[in-house]
Amino acid sequence: MNNSTIDVGVLGATGAVGQEFIAQLSNHPWFRLTWIAASERSAGRRYDEATTWRLPVPCPNSVAKMEVNSVIPDRAPELVFSGLDSSVAGEVEENFAKAGHLIVSNAKNHRMAEDVPLMIPEVNSDHLGLLERQSSVRSWPGRIVTNPNCSTIMLAMALAPLRPFGLQAVNVTTLQAVSGAGYPGVASLDILGNVIPYIDGEEEKMETETRKILGTFRDGRVENCPVVVSAHTTRVPVVNGHTEMLSVGFKTNPSEGEIIQAFQEFAGRPQYEQLPTAPLQPLEYLSAFDRPQPILDVDRGAGMTVTVGRLRRCRLLDYKLVVLGHNTVRGAAGAAILNAELMHKDGLITRSGSV
Ligand code: NAP
Repeated sequence: MNNSTIDVGVLGATGAVGQEFIAQLSNHPWFRLTWIAASERSAGRRYDEATTWRLPVPCPNSVAKMEVNSVIPDRAPELVFSGLDSSVAGEVEENFAKAGHLIVSNAKNHRMAEDVPLMIPEVNSDHLGLLERQSSVRSWPGRIVTNPNCSTIMLAMALAPLRPFGLQAVNVTTLQAVSGAGYPGVASLDILGNVIPYIDGEEEKMETETRKILGTFRDGRVENCPVVVSAHTTRVPVVNGHTEMLSVGFKTNPSEGEIIQAFQEFAGRPQYEQLPTAPLQPLEYLSAFDRPQPILDVDRGAGMTVTVGRLRRCRLLDYKLVVLGHNTVRGAAGAAILNAELMHKDGLITRSGSV
């Protein structure tokens, strides 16, 4: 480590999210990737031999030559990002926390625990206060912080600026990209020219995580937002970008102009603190009648901007609209890195990077 960077590691480095971590961390101004790990299938091999690199940017040379470790703490640095499969993430992440590591995870396993922040820095950075509770109730010296499910992030970001209007009910249908299922993910014969109207566990995640994220941090706990969310989730033949169609009901009667203004003015600590991964505009409202679209809009703000459009009156609830976000960037690796940047700003990561 040199004096100006913090060593970081990635669990699940060979997967779809892991590759995005590697791409996002190359040339990061604060973090330097020094340690990678994956399953026993990959451990002990060079990264470029263990991985089928799938991103349109080349794998950094320094990482290509690295040896893949097993998922045990051993020589891992203090800050470790996790893109592990959920079948193992729960136990492995706890082992790292017990060994004193700060885990910033994409996996679902700890998201809903009462002492674990489920964070989107623009929306609920105050939920980091849960870490105090975590250190008092758990038997580990480390910490676990999570980011939401990739569809939930887009939904919660679009709803966050609408909280002052009194969120009451949300009905959402997703059209989720195949990259959201990892690699190799869904078989081509199942998805080409098709729509799959079921994603295991996804609807429940959207319906529960959203209430926690939009909840109020009070007296060391998160009180869930009382909004009722009903979700249909589908997989569609799109490579990157989850599109969501939603109808929203409010307690008040905001005008279209007030809602659009709330989207356009929305910003949070990442923007005020100018964190390296923060987009200038976390939400962008497009007024064109046929936007947002994955092909045209998914990479806005380097994949960290969530795009909103087609706001109009709804005959069942008050308004309907379309939301789009990049599932492996804002929905996964970029989200976790932004969480870590905020924690570093708040002095929660030691400068040495070692445990
Ligand atoms: P993926 O492509 O299948 O990658 C899974 C990773 O976990 C690989 O590095 C794999 O290593 C490792 N792994 C699997 N079984 C393991 C075991 N028994 N022991 C140790 N490591 C093991 O999945 P992904 O799409 O990147 O998703 C990773 C996590 O992020 C999941 O929890 C997922 O739900 C979550 N997530 C994904 C997205 C998305 O858009 N894809 C968005 C948000 C959250 P090997 O290569 O060695 O098998």
